[in-house]
Amino acid sequence: MNVGVEALFTSALGLQPPWVVEDVKLDVQGKRIDFEVSCSGALLTCPACGAASQPVHDRLRRQWRHLDFFQFEAWLHADVPRVACASCGKTTQLNVPWARPGSGFTAAFEALALALCRDLPVRQAAALLRCADKQLWRRIEFYVDQARALESFAGVQIVGIDETSLRRGQHYITVVHDLDAKRLLFATEGRDHQTVLDFAADLEAHGGDPAEVRHVCMDMSAAYAKGTSIALAQADISYDRFHVIAMAIQAMDDVRREELRSEPEEVAAALLGADPKTRRNLLWGMRKNPVGWTGAQTTAMHWLQRSALKSARAWRLRMALREVYARARQHNNAEQAASDLAAWTSWARRCRLEPFKKLAATIKERLGAVVRGMLDHRSNAFVESMNGQLQQAKRAARGYRTAKNFIAIAYLRLSRLKNLPPHPFSAAATVG
Ligand SMILES: [Zn+2]
Repeated sequence: MNVGVEALFTSALGLQPPWVVEDVKLDVQGKRIDFEVSCSGALLTCPACGAASQPVHDRLRRQWRHLDFFQFEAWLHADVPRVACASCGKTTQLNVPWARPGSGFTAAFEALALALCRDLPVRQAAALLRCADKQLWRRIEFYVDQARALESFAGVQIVGIDETSLRRGQHYITVVHDLDAKRLLFATEGRDHQTVLDFAADLEAHGGDPAEVRHVCMDMSAAYAKGTSIALAQADISYDRFHVIAMAIQAMDDVRREELRSEPEEVAAALLGADPKTRRNLLWGMRKNPVGWTGAQTTAMHWLQRSALKSARAWRLRMALREVYARARQHNNAEQAASDLAAWTSWARRCRLEPFKKLAATIKERLGAVVRGMLDHRSNAFVESMNGQLQQAKRAARGYRTAKNFIAIAYLRLSRLKNLPPHPFSAAATVG
């Protein structure tokens, strides 16, 4: 290397005395650049107690992966001194300024890895960085824990509690969002009432006050209502649109399935249609709104509506509930919404369809909370957009989708953490 190159890289890496780049080796074929960094001075400050001018006991060889230089994979190497301190009597290894203790990556490399994992599946980020995804998962967890510990939840007043599952229908995770700041506050395994108690404890540990939470938006699970009544007792509950409509669609599916199973053969045959294609068109036609129907679905749905089938009644009930919500959004009047909803429940209770009778009873019992949810547009929209982002977080954890990993990546992406390392290429960051 030319004279001066070492000095150039010493400053490019942001090194301060006593650390300097002593040697640079470029391996063009191996696509590697290796920096030998050395620590000058025979007497150093003790890292354990701060006593100045202590002798070096020995030096330990270590290496760190750094950000690539152009197409070259960059590595730092150093003999890191251990200081034998006369003052505290300990022999302690010096911390290097470019990496966390114990990490084989420089801090800049870790910051880039975190930035990539916010946008890409972790496996893909690992492939781009040419490292193992396991190494990235460990770092995501470390930095998320560190950043969350510094996060303040003071002033949180409106939260949304929801469940999501790692795999379809199993391995549940409870997530709690701050609906004002639009950030993920808390995620934990399970979906029992204890999860809400754990959230309240976590809120307090981050400077929040459970007594200040005045509004909780949730689905109709009894467990969350129970947890809220214990840990967030003074909060109003509201049931959001997304979940209530989902329950109506579930009731409608139950009616259709039951009708297929138990009705006389000719009804089942009529419902099935001539071929499996028609059956599928019905299934999806019933779940979708009419604007989304394909031609074949429109034909199937017109046929259904002319029939005397229970499935046709179930479809009308579902659409009527949707209409109740649409009117509530339009008029934004609690009294009107309550009376529309009461009319719907009284129809549903007389409809002789068991799943709808049950749903109507549930809604009637909690009418006030359902109406609050009908008028709370902001949290409705947020819950739906959060669902999409949680699905992306799940995809990001593909291959390593444990509860721990999913929770870590969800915090990284959805919590708006203020104390993560800055992107190494941003103006605020210094390399090394
Ligand atoms: Zn010491």
